[in-house]
Parts: sequence; structure tokens; C-alpha cells
Amino acid sequence: MLNGKILKNGKILVHALQWYIGHSCNLTCTNCSNFNNFAISGQEKFSDFEREARRWSEKLHVNDFGIIGGEPFTNNDLDNWVHGLRDVFTCKDFRVVTNGTLLSKHADKMKAWFDRGVTVELSFHSQDHVPKAFKIIDEVLDGKYEKYTVTKNNFIKDQARHAGCYYEEAILVGDHPAFIINYKDKFMPWGVKSVDNGVYNFYESDREQAHTACWHNDCPYIYKGKMYKCGTVVGAQAFVKKYPVRQQDKDLYESYKPVDAFSNTLEEQVSALSHSVPQCVLCPINSGNVEKISLDKKKVMP
Ligand code: SF4
Ligand code: SF4
Repeated sequence: MLNGKILKNGKILVHALQWYIGHSCNLTCTNCSNFNNFAISGQEKFSDFEREARRWSEKLHVNDFGIIGGEPFTNNDLDNWVHGLRDVFTCKDFRVVTNGTLLSKHADKMKAWFDRGVTVELSFHSQDHVPKAFKIIDEVLDGKYEKYTVTKNNFIKDQARHAGCYYEEAILVGDHPAFIINYKDKFMPWGVKSVDNGVYNFYESDREQAHTACWHNDCPYIYKGKMYKCGTVVGAQAFVKKYPVRQQDKDLYESYKPVDAFSNTLEEQVSALSHSVPQCVLCPINSGNVEKISLDKKKVMP
């Protein structure tokens, strides 16, 4: 576990930080780790959390910063989020993560993002989404780019980039990875385990085993200006408000309290995020086995 270490510059190390800008997503990928495949929704505006962004950037040393959701391209305020967060998080690696299906919505903004060192991470969940996305890439970059196939994880031409993110290709404009691309059509089990008589059940795992096996166990999220252990807890708090679940599961997710950027005990609380949380019992103990993503469901309200 890397996160929580106090560096010589007095800042708290958080290697990869994700800033979650809204629950809404247009897709329904089975086993989405943040419950965004369900009909949870809601978008946030940058101006409402600018103060918290400045505070976190003063306190944290971040190597790889990501804007995430939900699907960030559904958020009408995305351009303000990108520029606003880029102003304060000046790390070399800065990404906006997207499923690639809605690039046209903010395509006219992207060139200005690339000029500021922003990378768009395309995480494709179906081959059906690829041709349309590449058409937009061609238009945005006017065909002037190099398509690079990654041969060593997290390296682009002998330069470490986006360490910890898995990507297979990059679209380079000069030295800058304007896009990094991964093709994920399989996920490990996550989220809801089953539905019985209209009640949505989670897993019942050993807390430490689930946490040790979890791929997101050192991947804090910031939502509404506060820091959470992981995206699963962020999405789950919205999910249990809307969907029928056992009362004890709802109570457990709702009992989670994120870290306030202005807390007097910030260092201790951020360090503690490297440990398991009681909510880990509701996640599976993943063995690495993956299941093909199904995208054929329409979003249905409970
Ligand atoms: S995996 Fe990504 S694209 Fe799929 S439902 Fe979740 S947030 Fe949406
Ligand atoms: S609650 Fe625990 S096990 Fe579940 S995703 Fe978060 S860190 Fe992983």
C-alpha cells in the first residue's frame, strides 16, 4: 500500500486519485464496480467544489489524477471540471476516463484539454463502440496522430505514463498521449450478487479476505469534495437509497463517513484509507475470474 505516506514536501502521497463527478452513466455493464449500471443518477458542478479541490491539492501529492463517474461525458459541466481540476492538480498524468460512446458531446473541447497535458482514457466495453469513437478521434486530431501499441505495461516509448492504469494502445500527438485505450469486455464479479423477490442482495464475505483480493483496495475517490475508500462505497450509498435492499445492508453502507478535506486529522484519516472498511464484507472475494459484460439491458427503475 502506497497511499498515506508523508513525503519530504509535507504532502500526503495518494498515488492515483479519482475525482467522481456524477453517478449518471448511459451504459449498463454487468458487474460495474460503482453500481452505475443501475439507474442511479446525479451530476455535480465544479464551482460547487472548487474550494475543496484547492484544499486537497495543497494537502496531497498525486501522481496520476483521474476524472471519473458514472460516465463523465454525460456531465454538461465536464469542461469546467477538466480545466478547474487541471488548474490545481498539476501532476504529469491527468486523465478523463470514459466509455467512449459520447465523445461527440465534448469533442470541440478536447484540443484545449490536450494542450494542457490532459489524456482521455477510453475504456471500451464493446467492439461496437470502437469505430464511432475513432471517427471522432480522427476529426478532433485532424488525422494527425500516431497510433501506438503498448509493449510494456504503463510505458509509452520508454517513458512511464499513467502507472497503475492498464492500457493497450495510445494515440500520440507528438510525445503527448492524447488518448490511452483499453478494451474491457469482461469484469470480475462486483456490486449486486442476486435479486430475490425484488430485494437486491450483496455478497457476505470475510472483510479482510475481500479487501486483500480487491483490485480497488488502494484507489480512493473524491465525491462532493470528500474522500472515500473506493468508488464502490460512493455508488452503493446512492444505490441503497433507491433500490430495495436488506435494512442491515442499507445501514452499513449509509454508516460510511468520508474524509473531510478540512479535517484536523487529515493525515491519519487518509493513511487509514489503506485498510479495509466494514463495508468490504458486502463485496465478493475475487479470485481474478472474469465474466463477459452484458450490455443488453435497458436501465430500469426499481
Ligand atoms: S463500467 Fe463504466 S460504462 Fe459501464 S456501467 Fe459502469 S460506469 Fe458505466
Ligand atoms: S468496499 Fe472494500 S472490497 Fe469493496 S471495493 Fe471497496 S475496498 Fe474493495
